Amino acid sequence: MDDDVFLVRFWGVRGSISVSGPEFSRYGGNTICIEMRCGKHTLLFDAGSGLRPAGRALRASGVTDFDLLFTHCHYDHIIGLPSFTPIYDRSVKLTLWSGHLAGRMTTRQMVDEFMRPPWFPVKLEICKASLDCRDFVSGDVLRPRAGVVVRTGSLIHPGGCIGYRVEWGGRVVAVITDTEHEPDKLDQAVLGLIEDADLVIYDCAYTEEEMERRRGNGHSTWQQGVKLCEAAGARGLALFHHDPARTDEELDEIEKLAKDRFAGAFAARDGQTLKFPVSLHKKR
Ligand SMILES: [Zn+2]
Ligand SMILES: [Zn+2]
Repeated sequence: MDDDVFLVRFWGVRGSISVSGPEFSRYGGNTICIEMRCGKHTLLFDAGSGLRPAGRALRASGVTDFDLLFTHCHYDHIIGLPSFTPIYDRSVKLTLWSGHLAGRMTTRQMVDEFMRPPWFPVKLEICKASLDCRDFVSGDVLRPRAGVVVRTGSLIHPGGCIGYRVEWGGRVVAVITDTEHEPDKLDQAVLGLIEDADLVIYDCAYTEEEMERRRGNGHSTWQQGVKLCEAAGARGLALFHHDPARTDEELDEIEKLAKDRFAGAFAARDGQTLKFPVSLHKKR
């Protein structure tokens, strides 16, 4: 394992519902799941269907102590949890975090609610892993592991959603999904989370042309992602939370348009890995 690299791996980049078929084969069809490795520490963000292959990879690499942070609990962000085999493994220690339901429901209650009959054959108690459920409030600064700082903020999404800014080794990666922007306005909370980031993973479910008839769904566009990254001095922009109807060819086209506007933009794909060497010169 690379101790001096901040690694980001996309396990699920599709929003709303998983898809399959030849027209989706290159970008992939799994719903939201991102892995970050900060040296020897492993963090996962969201538990969409991409969590299932992430679990297999973690087991293969012998990782048994890690964190899973939820942005929120819409189906495309939780559906993979019951199929995440590490939770049935006695040797695994997993810390679960959420803050989008602060004051309404704890992380433990949220997971209990959807992992039980009649929605699922068994209850959470069947899990043999040691599960430590933590709650936070938007704006809190989390320190899940030594040297790893995770800043949090609220996104604009029905039912609430948390954006994350992860700082480690002089590097910054932000997860900004799911969120809806207001026309001609840059969200100050998002700007704070992505300032000077090496990579911004941003909700690009729609294009600006589609946005008018999609208002209220709680999603954004690649054009808004570019504006935010430019304003915040961010260097990389991962177009993410692809609409389930978006084919590989359409994503190729969107990626090209985005790259023309912002050189660091790319459309994220299932299985894609990015590595950021530790930056010793920067102190954050
Ligand atoms: Zn979503
Ligand atoms: Zn959502």
